[in-house]
Amino acid sequence: MNLDLYTLYMLSMVILSIAMVVYMVFATLGSRGKREPEKKVVTVLRCPRCGYTKTRDFREGDYVGKVVDEVCPKCGISLVVDAIYEESITSLNQVLRNKRKQEGARKTSSQLKGLTRICCALRR
Ligand SMILES: [Zn+2]
Repeated sequence: MNLDLYTLYMLSMVILSIAMVVYMVFATLGSRGKREPEKKVVTVLRCPRCGYTKTRDFREGDYVGKVVDEVCPKCGISLVVDAIYEESITSLNQVLRNKRKQEGARKTSSQLKGLTRICCALRR
């Protein structure tokens, strides 16, 4: 009787763990399927002469440093691929954006420090 209860307990644990694994797999696949249409890869084109930048949808064959057919509206010379990145609202990108925001906040705080220094200098 004791052995039977133990076997039942073990069986239920095994079933529970299998159910959890299956649930996790389906949850991951489901969220992936939902996220994919939101993904968008963009290419940043830059004019090597004046620094003009333009963002357009990523095209196959794009790589950083590639000279594309598009020309700078100011200089009329070919634009170069400056950056390629994925524009999406996945959690990973949100994390990255939050990191960037934090970095931005740090920058602004250092700028504020600089401003206060200037203010102090003006007071003197
Ligand atoms: Zn230019």
